[in-house]
Amino acid sequence: MLILIGIIPAAVATRSVVREYEDRAVSLRIMNVRNQCEILRNQLLEADYFHNTSSLVVNSQLSLLSNVYFGRIMVIDKSFRVIRDTFDLGVGRINVSEQVIQCFRTGSGSSQYDRDNHYIVLTVPVGEEDGKITGVILVSVSTNEIAQNVRSLEKRSGNIILISSIFVLLVGYLIARYLVRPIEQVTSAIEDISGGLENETISVTDYTETKQITEAFNHLLGQVKAQEETRQQFVSNVSHELKTPLASMKVLADSLLMQEEVPNEIYREFMQDITKEIDRENGIITDLLEMVRMDRTAANLHVKPVDIGKMLETIIARLRPIAAQRNIELVLDVFRQVTAEVDESKLSLAFTNLIENGVKYNVDDGWVRISLNADHRYFYVTVADSGVGIAEEDQEFIFDRFYRTDKSHSTEIEGTGLGLAIAKSAITLHNGVIRVTSKIGEGTSFQTRIPLAAVREGEE
Ligand code: ATP
Ligand code: MG
Repeated sequence: MLILIGIIPAAVATRSVVREYEDRAVSLRIMNVRNQCEILRNQLLEADYFHNTSSLVVNSQLSLLSNVYFGRIMVIDKSFRVIRDTFDLGVGRINVSEQVIQCFRTGSGSSQYDRDNHYIVLTVPVGEEDGKITGVILVSVSTNEIAQNVRSLEKRSGNIILISSIFVLLVGYLIARYLVRPIEQVTSAIEDISGGLENETISVTDYTETKQITEAFNHLLGQVKAQEETRQQFVSNVSHELKTPLASMKVLADSLLMQEEVPNEIYREFMQDITKEIDRENGIITDLLEMVRMDRTAANLHVKPVDIGKMLETIIARLRPIAAQRNIELVLDVFRQVTAEVDESKLSLAFTNLIENGVKYNVDDGWVRISLNADHRYFYVTVADSGVGIAEEDQEFIFDRFYRTDKSHSTEIEGTGLGLAIAKSAITLHNGVIRVTSKIGEGTSFQTRIPLAAVREGEE
């Protein structure tokens, strides 16, 4: 492409320069010849040549001129008769060429250049003082030598163009190779990584662009690795969580089998424990399934107008018996009635988890306060409790799957650590946000903000 872009203008430029030369050379030649003819004309008049063609001076001058210019000179009289021809061919003949007729008619000379056959034809009128034209000098001059010059110029410039194209081709090829090398390096580095080589990151800093590409790629790679890590952690966590109740059941069942003649009460007690473990296992699986469902896109949301206050009331009513066991007060403050377009079952699950946590991680005789408010775009639900609180360093992890603080482990509060992960997914699916503020020993508050109608079915 570059070569083409270079060659075409170069060729055009050379051609026009050569033309220019040719035109100038030709017009110079015409001027010269005309000057000579003017001198000749005066001599013709002086010698009264049209009545007597024997003038020695004029005739020698005519042959001299025709030799110098490799041309043919004819002198034509009023009746278009050729009275003198340096080639001696046309004497006595009639010449009615267009140029001659025109010269007689207009009284001024003209010139014509025949580019293809390399000659110039020129007429010069010969007139008397009273302006009457008595004859015409017709000259044809060869321009072979100009044509030769043109040809050699063309040849030379053609060679220059050819040589420079080859040079440009070569240099272009080398530069192109040099330029794409870093890009090839990027490609091969990416291939190395996809080939499973444990290249941590790739780095080709030759150009700003390759640097940006590799940085973006490393960023992506980092994300993929992080995702892979969470996935592996998730799988191992799931297996662990699922195995724990199974292990307890196995221990319980084994110890029953080992003893002969087990008293009925012990039998019942163990069986109750086993049932509890089965329930726990069941709960974990339900949570897992719930979470997988949440992971799908918002297209799965079944939104309809929901009275949020009423929904919270229902949740609280369901949790009240559990709270009552430890004399925990559940309070609902509705500052504004809200009807929002949400997926009721998913959001209800989220708030259930939040309120349940408030009860679970509370002190006896404590309280959980749920408040509902709204503005023109969002509604806000806050769940605050007077419970044990969450340490600062734990706060960023509590929304992770299976994450449970050491405290809840040691105090033997049951749970799998999925509740907040599910709640967060549900709220995020609604384009909402959830935040936590907490102080150890004082209590925790979860604040959520959800759009009143940001997600509509089919809008995704
Ligand atoms: P699950 O809810 O799945 O039965 P869980 O309650 O342990 O189990 P999450 O609800 O995800 O799991 O909570 C994660 C952890 O965050 C809890 O283990 C607990 O340590 C801490 N936490 C959550 N809510 C509170 C709260 N209101 N007060 C104090 N700690 C809390
Ligand atoms: Mg929970």
